[in-house]
Amino acid sequence: MKQSKLFTKTQKDALKDEVSTNAQLLIRAGFIHKEIAGVYAYMPLGLRVLENIKKIVREEMNAVGGQEVMMTTLQPKDIWEKTDRWDDAKVDNWFKTKLVNGTELGVGLTHEEPIVDAVSNYLNSYKDMPFAVYQIQNKFRNELRAKSGLLRGREFVMKDMYTFCRNHEQHDQEYEKIVATYYKVYDRLGLGAITYRTYADGGIFTPRFSDEFQTLSEVGEDTIYVDEAKRIAINEEIYTDENLAKLGLNKSELVAKKGIEVGNTFHLESKYTDALGLYYKDEKGEKQSIIMGCYGIGVSRLMGVIAELFADDKGLIWPEAIAPFRVHLLSLNQNEKAQEIYDALNAAGVEVLFDDREVNAGVKFADADLMGMPFQLVVSEKNMRDNRVELKNRKTGAVEYIPLDSSEIVKYFQNK
Ligand code: ATP
Ligand code: MG
Repeated sequence: MKQSKLFTKTQKDALKDEVSTNAQLLIRAGFIHKEIAGVYAYMPLGLRVLENIKKIVREEMNAVGGQEVMMTTLQPKDIWEKTDRWDDAKVDNWFKTKLVNGTELGVGLTHEEPIVDAVSNYLNSYKDMPFAVYQIQNKFRNELRAKSGLLRGREFVMKDMYTFCRNHEQHDQEYEKIVATYYKVYDRLGLGAITYRTYADGGIFTPRFSDEFQTLSEVGEDTIYVDEAKRIAINEEIYTDENLAKLGLNKSELVAKKGIEVGNTFHLESKYTDALGLYYKDEKGEKQSIIMGCYGIGVSRLMGVIAELFADDKGLIWPEAIAPFRVHLLSLNQNEKAQEIYDALNAAGVEVLFDDREVNAGVKFADADLMGMPFQLVVSEKNMRDNRVELKNRKTGAVEYIPLDSSEIVKYFQNK
């Protein structure tokens, strides 16, 4: 894409009304637009990042047999009454609305009830299980404090998956398979080394713990205790001598750290299926309870985490796996030659943002650093004289040179 055609622009100065680093940078770079605190629209570059994260999540969920659906945001009250969750005292931060005739509706903040309701049209035999359903969709939560940019949205993107199993044994197998996939997702996003499976409160329906996935960060709201050797952690909220003993964790091995919850998986037992009257018939034709699991990933929160953690004082630094474009081609008054390189890279399928604007070099460099594409390819008069182009790695700052030849440049990125 040509930057002269991109309708968004960068902003040089810090924003007074935005305290979080991720929102500061993402807004200044033109990736997101703030509607109100905790509610952000995605502009072209931001949407490309979000979609790249979704793609990774989707690929990994499909790889464990997940079937993608899209549930609705507007939800009827009756199914939530059956599980005793319509009451605001039980589910806090819920947005609700009304039909013209006064009928109350819930605005989707999670989807256990609707998914069970939908599945009940199809599920009746032991032969139907196990299976996993998921969606990647906007969730709405009336969060009290929404001051952390994409880290805590009032409207945000979540991947939520739900499994349906015949018994606990089958559930445990599905559960561990999906947890294993979570590691792959965080690895592919470049967060693997600083993200820990963390024992946390399981909710009121099960004596079992839930598993949070916590990415270490000073801006995190959670305190977790990390056992580095075991690569496991326990959330402060369940940090008791009794639980430590139960989990085989030793106080002396644990170090307190701050974390951001980037995922959470739960054992739901048969709480929702029983409450909504969904059972199955076993081999003998007898009615049995269905065991569910649910598995969330904070998709837009992950974008905020990556923006926040990988940035430097010049701006954003995107990992190649999710960058809006891999290459930022900067033409310093050399649009003709740069156009040739741009065409060759595009033809070879290398994603490139071409800064063809009539602005000075300083502005181009500052914008490229702020926007954070992994590679900056500079076509300047001086480099042309030396018969080469300059390639700067945004993350490391390392500079190398490639011969001034479109096919050499294409080859470089194809082999990288
Ligand atoms: P938190 O404790 O951060 O409020 P939660 O435990 O209420 O989150 P879950 O219901 O477990 O959230 O949601 C699944 C995932 O969705 C979380 O692990 C998190 O990554 C993400 N998430 C939850 N709330 C938000 C939010 N307000 N903004 C962005 N992402 C969120
Ligand atoms: Mg959670």
